[in-house]
Amino acid sequence: MRIAIGGLSNESCTFSPLLAGQDDFTLYRGDSFLDRYPFLSQFNAEFVPLLWARALPGGSVESSLYSQIREEFITLLRDNGPFDGVYLDMHGATHVEGMDDAEGDLIATIRQVVGSDCLISGSFDLHGNISRRVVEQINIMSAYRTAPHIDAVETRQKALSLLVHCLQNSLRPMRAWVQIPVVLPGERTSTEWEPGKNVYASLAKSDTIPGVLDASLWVGYVWADEPRASASAVVTGTDAEVIQREAARIGQRYWDARTGFNFGVKTGSIDECVTWALAAPEPSVFISDSGDNPTAGGAGDVPLFLGRLIAREVESAVVASIADAEAVAICQAAGVGAEVSLSLGGKLDPITSPPLPVTGHVLNIVPSQNTEVVAQIGGVKVIITRRRRPYHFIAHMQQLGIEPLEHKIVVVKIGYLEPDLNRAAPYALLALSPGPVDQAIERIPFKRIQRPKYPLDKDMTWMPEPVIFS
Ligand SMILES: [Zn+2]
Repeated sequence: MRIAIGGLSNESCTFSPLLAGQDDFTLYRGDSFLDRYPFLSQFNAEFVPLLWARALPGGSVESSLYSQIREEFITLLRDNGPFDGVYLDMHGATHVEGMDDAEGDLIATIRQVVGSDCLISGSFDLHGNISRRVVEQINIMSAYRTAPHIDAVETRQKALSLLVHCLQNSLRPMRAWVQIPVVLPGERTSTEWEPGKNVYASLAKSDTIPGVLDASLWVGYVWADEPRASASAVVTGTDAEVIQREAARIGQRYWDARTGFNFGVKTGSIDECVTWALAAPEPSVFISDSGDNPTAGGAGDVPLFLGRLIAREVESAVVASIADAEAVAICQAAGVGAEVSLSLGGKLDPITSPPLPVTGHVLNIVPSQNTEVVAQIGGVKVIITRRRRPYHFIAHMQQLGIEPLEHKIVVVKIGYLEPDLNRAAPYALLALSPGPVDQAIERIPFKRIQRPKYPLDKDMTWMPEPVIFS
């Protein structure tokens, strides 16, 4: 039994002025990405890793780059085939400039090469937008059941083990797909609190029903203005009636819960969050600068929050971080201890904010492929990076000489706090800051998303009508 492994993992914000190009993607070829699948040895099959393309979430992918990735994947598939199965390691929210439904295009192209007998299985992020074309072309699907995603390896293992199981037992599973007309940001649909916790926990029960192989629910990706953007449920299995019933039940459950989804922490404007944090009894308050979250597709260089901290003369704060290659070069040329005047941020995303003029001192420089600089500007230590990157771990700030918990306010460009930050934060707030991944989705200027959709259209009714694909 021969199984090809590969995929495309990217989340594209169509409201970002940035395009994702060659520099943003890492192309893993051959054995270089096998560490994502530490469970392969338990299966009696030959696995052939081809190509896995990954980028930090950002804007739409350049059309020529996507064509190049697709071409290389297809060539590898042809040259190394034939295959009994293909396992795809996907995200599900890639947008390519000038093309809707990139995953649908990729999977349909793969299907043309491998033919109708080959089984295709895919694992997905629950923040993917799942189109009819994807469900038509694929045989088996499985999505994360946790956000933050602590079951990523488990989900990959499930999609692969179902593929092996179906090949070994000559099964051709069907899919029941239902699009649920709801678009909510991941920060409101986390599985750490209700109703997301319960809605997702209930999927495990569907898995145990005879005739069902996997029950998956996608909350979707809201910052993609394309027709497919939506929540959806897909139940994979061998009994059409059962999977149709389960898909309808899951869709209905999500729909019924829609008005209950909310942020897990107190939210407000940047200034409200600063005021609340300064008044809080906790020694340190973490605030998410959510509109510019690079792991949702923000540019990661909007200096609005830093500007407010400086203007309000906050005495003790950290800002993680601002991507600005020019500012990093100026700080490197000046050296540690030097005074620098910078026109900071606002270059990758000039729409949300212009650059912020600041003067401060260089505290630290850590040279690497993505050089990091710490500058002290008034009472604020700001991390400046050459390229966009997230800060999801306390240790990554400590490596730069910053002890975040010794500061009254710690601003992180992020949505909900990832587990390490969440554990460390004595108190957390989420700022509904402006940016391409604006959490206040009612103020997003959608043009192409299918309507009606909750919460954009509040007075709508809906009944689940799953579609079966065999
Ligand atoms: Zn996700």
